[in-house]
Amino acid sequence: MTLALDRIAIESVGSDPVALARALLDQLPGLDGRVPIDEIALALDIRSIEIRPLFSIEACLQCDSLKSEGQIVVNARSSPQRRRYSIGHELGHFLNERHRPTSPKGFTCIRQDMVAPRGEERHVREERQANAFAIEVLTPRRLLGRHVTPSADLEHASAIAERFDISREAAVRRYVHCHRDCLAAVFTHDGKIRYVEKPERFPSMVPWTGDQLGPHPAPPRDGSSLSGLDEVHAAGWLTYPDAAQVFAQTLYQQDGHAITLLAVEQDYDAVDKVRDPPRFRR
Ligand SMILES: [Zn+2]
Repeated sequence: MTLALDRIAIESVGSDPVALARALLDQLPGLDGRVPIDEIALALDIRSIEIRPLFSIEACLQCDSLKSEGQIVVNARSSPQRRRYSIGHELGHFLNERHRPTSPKGFTCIRQDMVAPRGEERHVREERQANAFAIEVLTPRRLLGRHVTPSADLEHASAIAERFDISREAAVRRYVHCHRDCLAAVFTHDGKIRYVEKPERFPSMVPWTGDQLGPHPAPPRDGSSLSGLDEVHAAGWLTYPDAAQVFAQTLYQQDGHAITLLAVEQDYDAVDKVRDPPRFRR
């Protein structure tokens, strides 16, 4: 498939990654599922996409300072789904007028940049923006309705991964941001939290990166990998647990990895009373 895309029209919307992604997707009205990210990049002045074994980085974008054209290199040691995400991420750097190459050769991005960049430095902010662009393009918001409308369930996040050919981890991150319910996702290894993905509206949490996983359902007895969505002790998760119900569902993966979905139902009137109790004259 050869695509014809108008790069100037996309870049004219400015530097907001979501607006850039939307402007790109507006030129692809027929999409329904797997987004052809390779062809999209090649239609937007990316000369080539190479797959090479990379050891210290996850991907890079080679370009001059004017970004007139570029070349993307992705990691042969990563899954095809991760490589698709990396291409989207590098394209996010390429199309964003505010992103300036981090070295004379262009942009080099490590795994942490792609998954959970932390900090407020300019470089880290740009990594977050490249991620926002990548996921917005790879899972167009206009196609997500049927996945994020039913009650919260990691099965539905897995369906996003399959339909759009992205990693389950990226799909879960997308799921908690687009679902109508108040959700967060906790990614763990051997019971320790690798990172938490949560929208701003999700309440303040107690356990964080490096801590032990909070209360969660035990592995199913039938040997399957996905638990039910069970109510757990809110105080094990939330800074202000009063008037809140917390439900957790855990997907037990290979090699000690797990994903726990958290859903919070909160009585907001009661929360205000807890945080700011009425004061009476003595
Ligand atoms: Zn990057």
